[in-house]
Amino acid sequence: MTLLAPPHPLEKRVLLRRFPEPRTEPVWIDEYLRTDGYEAIRKALAMEPEQIVDEVKKSALRGRGGAGFPTGMKWSFVDRKSPKPKYVVVNADEGEPGTCKDRILMGYDPHRLIEGVLIGGRAIGANRGWIYIRGEYREYIDILDRAIAEAYERGFLGSNVLGTGWEFHLSTHTGAGSYECGEETALLESLEGKRGNPRLKPPFPATSGAFQCPTIVNNVETFCAVPDIILNGGEWYAALGTPKNGGTRLVCLSGHIERPGVYEVPLGMNLLTILNEIGGGVWKGRKLKAVIPGGSSSPVLKAEECDIPADYDSLAKAGSMLGSGATVVLDETTDMAKVLARLMKFYAHESCGWCIPCREGTTWLKKITARLEEGIGSERDIDTIDRISQSMLGRTFCPLGDAAAMPAMAIARKFREEILEKLSRADAFAPVEGAQPLVVL
Ligand code: SF4
Repeated sequence: MTLLAPPHPLEKRVLLRRFPEPRTEPVWIDEYLRTDGYEAIRKALAMEPEQIVDEVKKSALRGRGGAGFPTGMKWSFVDRKSPKPKYVVVNADEGEPGTCKDRILMGYDPHRLIEGVLIGGRAIGANRGWIYIRGEYREYIDILDRAIAEAYERGFLGSNVLGTGWEFHLSTHTGAGSYECGEETALLESLEGKRGNPRLKPPFPATSGAFQCPTIVNNVETFCAVPDIILNGGEWYAALGTPKNGGTRLVCLSGHIERPGVYEVPLGMNLLTILNEIGGGVWKGRKLKAVIPGGSSSPVLKAEECDIPADYDSLAKAGSMLGSGATVVLDETTDMAKVLARLMKFYAHESCGWCIPCREGTTWLKKITARLEEGIGSERDIDTIDRISQSMLGRTFCPLGDAAAMPAMAIARKFREEILEKLSRADAFAPVEGAQPLVVL
């Protein structure tokens, strides 16, 4: 299981509040109940569903999967009066490279997730939920299944939740490990037993989701924030962050950093403080070259761009995004052409092939960047990367096309000189495995 890092004094642990010390065992139900567990659902059951949604709206909680859509607003789109069944779906696919936070929550505090789902279900009038989790996370599936069984035994799940007459059932559903199934409509297709291709939107899942019924789909971390919002109030949670960026969030620090790990920080903490104070700075005493601030799809920031608050709006203003919270540190020795090629290989592999700009675009980006990585190519290749990326941006069926195009453009533009310098040094006649041969007419 992913190891939980020791707490740092600058952290603000809400989601991780049950872990003042590193540990190796999950919090099972008795320990959960001893530490305020399931108090929030008791409180929510005494509230009107609209009050629950209002509290979540007040919290300024935004989706922690990557898109950052306001959670309370998403829940308010569900028509509670619809005669159709309503569903709650947890996106536990966690496939963005560098991201390992949802596994921490599922692996160490599984009842927190179950309680968050129950509250979501109560808010929209649902009686059924699924935790959609990728099949590779076997260890976490087993933990969740055991926690769900415990919740059934104690009456938190079932046909009469806590004797209130409300019925709510929950189970895990395993996917086959596709990045594309992290997109909510592709996830729903997969949940229904079909190939995980995305759906045309609108309609959005809130009106037509799982089995064409109103559905909320939220990330693990989003649901895990809900119990504390209900216990302490939306305003309390919002005040932990900045306006429009409520609360705390988990940051997965990886790459060339002294203390890699998952940390919980208030939204809006300066990115350099996270890297230098909490993460202990760039490893081996080296200098910072760049940071990928929110998972592989977020455009890279050069070292001089990193002195900014780590929140949704500030990063968007800087031309990047907070994304999934996966913060990858790159030191001065990093070969950016290699980073670019590795990312494009990933996206070409994960493209589902449904739409042409993404299928062709990611394939060509992979081929061109593979030869740049080997030092073969020309300045025109860098321009071609930019042109292909621009022709993908906003023109693909789902966000995967953008996810590939944005980092490609950012690296090619910001590190153009470095790549050119590499090309000028390379032996143009060296054999390149897997590189696209240049055809000169
Ligand atoms: Fe599939 Fe890519 Fe098109 Fe999304 S953008 S539908 S992953 S081909």
